[in-house]
Amino acid sequence: MARSFYPIENFAPAPQQVSLLPFRFTRFFGQELLVNEAGEFIFAPEGTAYSLLEGAVDVRSLLYKDLKAKHIVYDETSSALLDVLATKIRTKYDHLSGGTKLHIFVVTLRCEHSCHYCQVSRQTASKGEFDMSRETADRSISLMLDSPSPHVTLELQGGEPLLAFDMIQYIVPKAKEQARIRNKGLDIVVTTNLACATDEMLTYFRDEEVRISTSLDGPAFLHNKNRPRPGNDSYERAIDGIERGRAILGHSNVAALMTTTAASLDHVEEIIDEYVRRDFHTIFLRPISPYGFALKTKNRTGYEMERFLEFYKQGLAHILNINRSGYRLAEIYSQILLSKILTPQGTGYVDLQSPAGGAWNVLVYNYNGDVFASDESRMLAEMQDWTFRLGNVHKDNRRSLFTSEAALRMFEVSCNQSLAGCSDCAFQSYCGADPIYHHATQGDMYGHRPTSGFCTRNMEVIKHLFSFIQEDNPETMGIFWSWLTGRPLPQKGGTCD
Ligand code: SF4
Repeated sequence: MARSFYPIENFAPAPQQVSLLPFRFTRFFGQELLVNEAGEFIFAPEGTAYSLLEGAVDVRSLLYKDLKAKHIVYDETSSALLDVLATKIRTKYDHLSGGTKLHIFVVTLRCEHSCHYCQVSRQTASKGEFDMSRETADRSISLMLDSPSPHVTLELQGGEPLLAFDMIQYIVPKAKEQARIRNKGLDIVVTTNLACATDEMLTYFRDEEVRISTSLDGPAFLHNKNRPRPGNDSYERAIDGIERGRAILGHSNVAALMTTTAASLDHVEEIIDEYVRRDFHTIFLRPISPYGFALKTKNRTGYEMERFLEFYKQGLAHILNINRSGYRLAEIYSQILLSKILTPQGTGYVDLQSPAGGAWNVLVYNYNGDVFASDESRMLAEMQDWTFRLGNVHKDNRRSLFTSEAALRMFEVSCNQSLAGCSDCAFQSYCGADPIYHHATQGDMYGHRPTSGFCTRNMEVIKHLFSFIQEDNPETMGIFWSWLTGRPLPQKGGTCD
C-alpha cells in the first residue's frame, strides 16, 4: 500500500495566538476584497472579514495561510513577515522622501490659442508684461534647487512657452549650471502646443536634452474644435511639430496628452485610433479639470463624471483590443493604478497621493514669482481665488513656503487615511487626497466623498480594474503586466512569460 504524507500537525504546531493587522474590505461580485496597509489584496469568500473579527477562521485552512501571507493576520510565527510588511509600506511611500521633485515654471501667460477648456488665464500673444523676468527666473531656480531631492524635474510651460523662447534660453543653461554646482540631477521638459516651433528651437531642445510634451486631443475635426487658433490649424501644426520634433529630438522625446471635452465624449475610439496612427504607445484618457477658464466655459465643455466613466471604460476596452491585435498601447491612468495595485512600488503621480502631492511633490512658480501648491491652484488664482498661494520667490524661502498659512491649511486635510469616507475605504491605498480639487468643486478642502467627482472617478476606475484582476484572464493580465514591466505583449491566448 502506498505510503501517504503525515498530517501537518506532525510537523508544525497550530498557531495559538492569532491577531489582526490593519486592513479594509469591500464586497466584490460574490467575494470579499480585503486590502492591507501596503495595498496587497486578497479575494476571499463572502463572510471572511466577519469570521476574522469573530476569530472563526480555521488556522489550518488554506484561506488562513493566504491571509497570513497577505499580512491580514499574524501569529507567533510571523515576526519576519511583519518586517517584510514594514519594508513594503516604506517602499510604497518612498516618493515622500527627498522633497519636491517636480518644479513648474510658467515662463509666460501669452498664448496664440484660445482653447475652451484652457486652465490658464491666457493673455494675447503680444503682451510681454506677462513673461517671467530674469530676476524671477533666478530666484525660482534657486528655490527649486533648495529642495532636498537629489534629482528634480523642471517643466517649462505657459501660456505657450515658445512665445518666450528667449526666456527658455536664459533658464535652461542657468538651471543646468546651478544644478551642477549643487550636485543635483536635472531633467527638463517643455510643455508646448508646438504651433510656433521652428527647427532652430527643436534643435536647441535636442542639444540641451530638453524633452517635449504636447497636446493631441484626437483627429483634426476634434482637436481643432477643442483648440481654436487663428487659421483653425492647431491640429496640422501639432502633427507637423510632432513629426519634426521626433526627427530632430528622437521619437521617445516627444510625448502627447489629450483632454476630454464634451465634444470628445462620443469619439473615444477615434481619439485612440489617432494616437495609434501617430505611432504613440501611451494615451492618457483625462477628464477636463474643473479649474480656471474651464469653470467659465463649463456649460460648453463640461459633463458629469458618470459620462466620463462611460467614455473611459469604452476607451479601455478598445485599447485592450488594440493590444490583443499586437500593437502595444498603454492607458496611463490605468497603468498608474495597476502599478499601485499589483506591485510594491508607489508612483510619483501627483494627483493620487496621500499625503496629497500639492507642494510635497510639485511646486509652481508663476511668471510674476508667486508660488503655488500645484498648477491647479495657480488656475484658481487666475480666477481671483488665492487660497493655495504659498508665497512669492522674491520674499520667501522654502521654509516659509512650507509653513505658510495656505500650506498648513492644506496639509491638515492631505491624508486620506484620516478623511471621513476614505478612512475605511478598501481602495484607500491606491487613491489619494485632493484638497485643491475639493476646494474648487465643493468649496471645502476637506471634501464630501459621496458627492465628490474625484471619489466617483477613482472608486469606479479602481473597481473596473479589479474586475479584470478578479476575472484573471491570462491575456488581459499579460497586457497589464506588459504595461507595467515593458515586457513584450502576450502571444494570442497566453501570458507574456
Ligand atoms: S476618494 Fe473615494 S475611492 Fe478614494 S479613498 Fe476616498 S472614499 Fe475611497
